[in-house]
Amino acid sequence: MKNLYRKSVAILLCSVLALLPTLSEGLAYAQQSPVRSAQSLTLREYLNKSYMELFELAPKLEFSASEIESQRNALKNGKDICVGRFKTHSKQYESQIDAARKDLKKNTAALTEEQRKQAHCNIQNLDLLKSEADVLSGQAIPTAYDNLNAKLDVIQLWPAQYKQIQQELASGTYHTRRWGDVKDIGFREIEPKQEDDIKRGAQAVEELKRLGLMPPEVEDKVIQDYVRSVGERIAKKSDLKIPLHITVLQSREINAFALPGGYLFIERGLLEATDDESELAGVIAHEISHVTARHANKLMKRATIASIFYQAAQIAAIVLTGGVAGIGMYYALQYGFFGLGLVLNLKLLGVSRDYELESDQLGVQYAWNAGYDPSGFIRFFDKMATKKGYVNGVSWFRTHPPFYQRMVQTQREITFLEAKPDAIVQSSAFEQMKKDLAPVVAKAEKEEVGKPSLLLTKEEGCTPPQKLEYKSEQPVEELCSVPIQTLPAQGK
Ligand SMILES: [Zn+2]
Repeated sequence: MKNLYRKSVAILLCSVLALLPTLSEGLAYAQQSPVRSAQSLTLREYLNKSYMELFELAPKLEFSASEIESQRNALKNGKDICVGRFKTHSKQYESQIDAARKDLKKNTAALTEEQRKQAHCNIQNLDLLKSEADVLSGQAIPTAYDNLNAKLDVIQLWPAQYKQIQQELASGTYHTRRWGDVKDIGFREIEPKQEDDIKRGAQAVEELKRLGLMPPEVEDKVIQDYVRSVGERIAKKSDLKIPLHITVLQSREINAFALPGGYLFIERGLLEATDDESELAGVIAHEISHVTARHANKLMKRATIASIFYQAAQIAAIVLTGGVAGIGMYYALQYGFFGLGLVLNLKLLGVSRDYELESDQLGVQYAWNAGYDPSGFIRFFDKMATKKGYVNGVSWFRTHPPFYQRMVQTQREITFLEAKPDAIVQSSAFEQMKKDLAPVVAKAEKEEVGKPSLLLTKEEGCTPPQKLEYKSEQPVEELCSVPIQTLPAQGK
């Protein structure tokens, strides 16, 4: 596990989440709701609140069913318009690419080297813009709206859920929920024979390295040791019965994933994206849960590791040679890596709708049992869904049960766990890790500048098109109103 493999590929993972913010005035805003004394914001404005805040606020809000309905319709219209807009952009870029290729073919004999280079750069840049539009219309925008809808669900449905939870608490029936025996964590059996997965996981790690798909490790012992110590702390207080191997990878992707048998990988981008130890603990605990419940084993009874990686390598090869536009290409060109998560087999990672929900539940139990504030997981999830770069986070959205269900079930579980007044949110070791990480990130990014598109770029030295900038906190509606970028006509 110590050797570094070179390609800076990012991997992905299991499911966590997503995205972006909101767009142009009006698109998603329903008519202004009447402002009542108890609720000082419009319904749309409440959707900018965090899940944790909404769990608090929802039982006190008094929006009518028709107000909620009309906001829901506004979100739907906003999403359709926004997705449609970027689909149109994508088609425009496609026809420009066709025209540029025909032109190149027609004039190829007459072009000077300078003109030829410009023509190549033009096609390459149009490809990039098209990929960006495809990522936005296919992933980022739908996820941003899913998240807004989930928050509307919280406002609409959480109050009744909350009442029910209170009843279960009062009557004691909550003890009978699935995995409700939290006082016996470590002594109960989530799934027998965890040790049977070790061989498969070790094999998967070897295959990833052999195929050059595994990003290098972060070469900083203090950072590695810190993350391992957080993992160990949780593992000890979990149902894990096999050794845990944690490795921090040098990749800017915001991701973490567990291979079967206890091989857990944390990408550097995830450390950058977390703000306190309880958030990191929440993600690690979720990943440990996939291992204790043997989700990968249940999903891939027959498949062999070799055949899974054969597929991954095939897809990766196509992506690397520019054969597949879209997400892989976009990642590679923009960031010098592609999300391995986009090619990694989800079954191997144990990702499915039901298993995500189960890992969310077990994960908050483990984080809680290890002394952490279990809501760190919700805070991190929410941040990814609303603030962090949707492009970097896009792989997290690849599969996810609806946000509402995930967030509500997680909050429900947290409500059933005995509150610990001294639960850990932050630690000085975490803060030290962030300090140690800064130069590591700076150095890695500097090195990436020299070889940003090494893997894929066919024409070197082109000035890339401007990336669509998305600011944290910016409503998704604004993104939808950004003017389309055009490229100067290619030189003849
Ligand atoms: Zn997961």
